[in-house]
Amino acid sequence: MTNKGVDYYKRAAVRAMQWHAENINKMKQCRFDTIAVHGIYSMQEALDFNQGSIIEPIYMSTSQAYRDSDEMEAALGYQIPTWCYSRIANPSMYYLEGVLALLEGYGASVDTSCIATASGMAAIQSAVDPFLVEDYKNPNRPMNFVATCQVYGGTFQQFAMRKEKDRNISWRRVINSNDIDEWESNIDENTRFLYGELPSNPSQGFFDIKKVIDLAHKYSIPAIFDSTVATPALLRPIEFGADIVVQSVTKSLFTSGFGIAGAIIARKNITTNIDNPEMKADFCAYLKLLPNRDNGPNISPMNAILAINDIRTIRSRMDLVSRSTLKVSQFLKQHKHIEGVDYLGLDEHSLHPIAKKYLFLVDAEYDDQYGTPQNRYGHLMSFRVKGGAQKARDVFDAFQRIWRATDLGRIKSVATIPSISTHSQQGEEARQLAQIPPHLIRLCIGMEHPDDIIADLDQALQVLDGKKVFFTSPEYSAGGASSAKIG
Ligand SMILES: *Cc1c(COP(=O)(O)O)cnc(C)c1O
Repeated sequence: MTNKGVDYYKRAAVRAMQWHAENINKMKQCRFDTIAVHGIYSMQEALDFNQGSIIEPIYMSTSQAYRDSDEMEAALGYQIPTWCYSRIANPSMYYLEGVLALLEGYGASVDTSCIATASGMAAIQSAVDPFLVEDYKNPNRPMNFVATCQVYGGTFQQFAMRKEKDRNISWRRVINSNDIDEWESNIDENTRFLYGELPSNPSQGFFDIKKVIDLAHKYSIPAIFDSTVATPALLRPIEFGADIVVQSVTKSLFTSGFGIAGAIIARKNITTNIDNPEMKADFCAYLKLLPNRDNGPNISPMNAILAINDIRTIRSRMDLVSRSTLKVSQFLKQHKHIEGVDYLGLDEHSLHPIAKKYLFLVDAEYDDQYGTPQNRYGHLMSFRVKGGAQKARDVFDAFQRIWRATDLGRIKSVATIPSISTHSQQGEEARQLAQIPPHLIRLCIGMEHPDDIIADLDQALQVLDGKKVFFTSPEYSAGGASSAKIG
């Protein structure tokens, strides 16, 4: 037997990449919902390789076998597309990355790519660490990055503890993210990137994303955004020039709550002052082939497929839950026991005008029901209960339909008290900066009928009138008893 040679496999790969690219180009002509439903899984791929399965297959395998040593050499030398080993790549991950790249890039005039990770936190770490490398020409030069202080609690810990404390990289905090001069005054020649979360979790921070992007590019550094709360159905920062977007896919995208997942989506040819041409050209491909291969934060194929399945309906879900949240927030704001409601969708919210400029239900103008652009503000809101922390806890403890859990984006309504849960570790001072008082309840509305959620809130608030309410007790439920044991 004669060797086929590495070139034989390279030629076959060129043909395969061509039909994959043609399929992706065809998908790019479709509307958002069609992309969300089909992703990059084509009928040709189903019929030729996957037994005709109409749903993307789960490849629960650690590794790929090769026909001969030539194919192995070509694959491991990154000369042909391969999924060699599931820490690096896997077909099921590929489908998830493909659909997210298209959805975040929808409407943008640039090409995008994506790498999925095991969690949103891993996505944030993967997105920022390549910029926090020592400058080999000027060793011992200090590094900094500029980021909003209104960020998710986990992000706060990663920035404050893992970057600042462990590695002496300074996080220059932007207190008022709407003050573009404050952003700019923090930038110097050692600044590696600008980072912002919008809308922020839980305090509904929002800023003029376009201005922050232009500022980053003025200093030749990338603009990175966590747009988890909006999802690509309501906001796509890359359309406005952002370099990199991170998603905690775990949340609204993966609404069923079957697993944890994250993703980084980047435009091709990002702006950076780091001298690394591969990283600049295709940031996500670079992460996949090098840092994430070496660090190993990638997603499992099972979680990838479960996430894909939820992503198909993201647009219509974000429409419905946004409308329900507006209705619930209107109920709460007029309630006698409520001090205030923070929801970007309310006219009186100070950031409503700026959010209104950016948060739109994708493709509403092509929707028979609407026909014109529609603002939608998502399903995360928070409210402050009159009378302080204990009163807020009393109301919280009286929920019967709304789940008490540190979660959001679920198909079921979920509430938490951030100061004693998601944002407990960062301390009182940091919570004040991020506007998270102890009597704030974060509520994320699910797909129940909003009237039933309003009824639950209404009965829970009656506890403040001295009305007796039903409390769940660990004695009466197996689940409660087992969690009591763990606790
Ligand atoms: C939950 C969350 C994260 C972290 O994501 P995980 O998937 O839980 O690791 C990051 N950013 C925001 C805005 C979040 O809500």
